[in-house]
Amino acid sequence: MLEIKNLQVKLEDEDKEILKGLSLTVPKGEVHAIMGPNGSGKSTLAHVLAGRDGYEVTGGEILWNGEDLAELEPDERAAKGVFLAFQYPMEIPGVAGLTFLRTALNSVRKKRGEAELSTPDFMKLVRGKAADLNIDMEMLKRPVNVGFSGGEKKRAEILQMAVLEPTLCVLDETDSGLDIDALKIVADGVNALRSPDRAMLVITHYQRLLNYIVPDKVHVLSNGQIQATGGKELALELEKSGYAAYQGKAA
Ligand code: ADP
Ligand code: MG
Ligand code: MG
Repeated sequence: MLEIKNLQVKLEDEDKEILKGLSLTVPKGEVHAIMGPNGSGKSTLAHVLAGRDGYEVTGGEILWNGEDLAELEPDERAAKGVFLAFQYPMEIPGVAGLTFLRTALNSVRKKRGEAELSTPDFMKLVRGKAADLNIDMEMLKRPVNVGFSGGEKKRAEILQMAVLEPTLCVLDETDSGLDIDALKIVADGVNALRSPDRAMLVITHYQRLLNYIVPDKVHVLSNGQIQATGGKELALELEKSGYAAYQGKAA
């Protein structure tokens, strides 16, 4: 399970503390949602879990299966099963989707001491997952995300998640830009990956995503801390009354 204990994070370049003692536990087999106002640190949490540059952990722990992730490089985290779906997927001109997927998968397998997949085995795996997600294999011959619509980018990202089979999935789906089709793609992908040995953290500004992904728990992040935790009904309440009641004390 994922155990975040009293996590404190500041920006590397600025003396600005963003997470101010955040604690959170996501057991395997569960899907938890994090909701919170703009600027509350939701994306910061996702980035810190994935090990992105630009942030400094100044206190607390991020334990994944008992091991402190904060000590590990991003590729080592990936090998431990951590996957972050970015809010704004990157375009990679000149690299075909299939090549990218294969490189990502083989890099994770190598770190785990597993053999690379042969071309036929890899193609079989991808064809199967792509079919599940309604992805045309032709799309995977194009450079990663270049000229993709919002929905296509989401599909490509969910495919990456399905191929890598991570055990800790963090999805930052904040802000606008996700139309209803893209929301459904994300939701179907997440729901298909629900499993007893996988923990999932879905970060969202809007309640509507949670109509499709029914979370086991909802946490409210505001002012750098979890201010409340509840069941799926908490998301509905937030949609109605907003975040005003959950601002907490930290300035
Ligand atoms: P959320 O995803 O909840 O909207 P973020 O984690 O993106 O919040 O941002 C939290 C706070 O940190 C905001 O005040 C934001 O402006 C600030 N912030 C985040 N990243 C940076 C950065 N790279 N440089 C400056 N400020 C940043
Ligand atoms: Mg934001
Ligand atoms: Mg964000």
